[in-house]
Amino acid sequence: MTIPTSQLAATASALAGFGCSHVAIDALTDSQLLEAQAAYATHHRAVQAYGVWIAGAIARRSAFSLGYSGLARRNGFGTPEGLIHAATGGTKAEAVKFVQLGSMMSQAQGATDAHDDEVTPEQRWQIPIVTAVGDGTLSVDAADAIRRGLGQLDAAVTAIALREAADRLVAEAAVASADEIFRRARQARDALDADGIALRQKERRDLRYFSAKRRPDGLVGGSYLLADEDAALMLAIYDRSTEPSIDDNRTAGQRAADDFVGLLRIGADADDGTVFGTRTPAVRVAVQQAVRESRAGSGFLQDADDPVSLETIDRLECDGGTVGVLFDNDGQVVNVGREQRLFTTRQRIGFAVRDGGCRFPGCQRPVSWCEAHHINQWLRDGGKTNIEDGILLCRMHHMLVHDNHWEILRRGASYWLQPPPDIDPAQTLRPMPSRSRVIRELAGAPPGAAPPGAAPPGAPAPQAGRQ
Ligand SMILES: [Zn+2]
Ligand SMILES: [Zn+2]
Repeated sequence: MTIPTSQLAATASALAGFGCSHVAIDALTDSQLLEAQAAYATHHRAVQAYGVWIAGAIARRSAFSLGYSGLARRNGFGTPEGLIHAATGGTKAEAVKFVQLGSMMSQAQGATDAHDDEVTPEQRWQIPIVTAVGDGTLSVDAADAIRRGLGQLDAAVTAIALREAADRLVAEAAVASADEIFRRARQARDALDADGIALRQKERRDLRYFSAKRRPDGLVGGSYLLADEDAALMLAIYDRSTEPSIDDNRTAGQRAADDFVGLLRIGADADDGTVFGTRTPAVRVAVQQAVRESRAGSGFLQDADDPVSLETIDRLECDGGTVGVLFDNDGQVVNVGREQRLFTTRQRIGFAVRDGGCRFPGCQRPVSWCEAHHINQWLRDGGKTNIEDGILLCRMHHMLVHDNHWEILRRGASYWLQPPPDIDPAQTLRPMPSRSRVIRELAGAPPGAAPPGAAPPGAPAPQAGRQ
């Protein structure tokens, strides 16, 4: 993890050898220009190694435990990142990367020098990354991409497996961009840790937000972050809005803004009593037949690299907001969509009147915010989409039911919610009364108020399903 001064001087003079002005560079032939670009990249990595060493040392001398006598504080900065940010004129995010890598480098240096038992496994798997940065063979951006993409060491993956993946990615980074390396690192992590897919999906989803704020000039601006199928839906609409059009003199951004406000207006005007969901599906998911049959593995949203859990695929297909594309092991398409499982417009009108909104206990979301959930597992049930096997749930509760394995059981005309064992070990059934006034009055009492054992004789046995 050292760069001899002779090497740094050599990379600098190799670069300078191509000329010392934009005029000189402009005069190079194409192949010389590409050589100059390669020389620049080599020198830049060598210089970045110094940046990382310096950042690591500044961070150590600015340790929180040193209080006001720390280097950053003495110079008027709250953090070492702040000091470096101000000194380099780069971005804050860049300063954070240098400090993280610099701190990691000193830990890993300790790891290579120290006895085995003094080294944490987390430090050990990152050794190939910091070594390559220190040797000037890996850029800081690529190093950061590998670390973030491979994620944390936890019970699901071994340090050895992460280290092997890190070794491979460091080698691949010589001929790939940092963005591409990040994508491959994410895929490597998913391959190592299939069970973690649902967890990482949740982590991505937890980052979602939307904010809007009035600016001093009176305009309203904002930002947002969306994951997975929400992201896919947003992009599908955005791409459609920004398609080039010759007889439209608005900019692409203006067309997208107009369409977005149009959608808000439609949503705001929507009748609370309409169940939507017969729309043209905007999101497509691909899943292997073997994965679906074995219920082990994951699928992908079209045009997205991050896998999504089977629970998510089930939920998307449950309501018909997506088209499932089923593949066999050779990559051949087996089936596209399964329209027969979708509830019809007429059935949705029936749900609206019968359920009156989300039937999850205590939820007040109106019908227009709801999705139609199939209470029976579709495959097991032979694909029936009878109205009694569907129930309205708002999106949040629909997600909860699929992702956390709540079950909905039907007995006669009443519906019961069974919590998963980790929420309620006894799995005591909870009533799901209709919120429709008609139904309440027809029943003379809130339906579902009686325990399931009190269902009328001859009532069909409860039917359970995860879908
Ligand atoms: Zn569902
Ligand atoms: Zn709800």
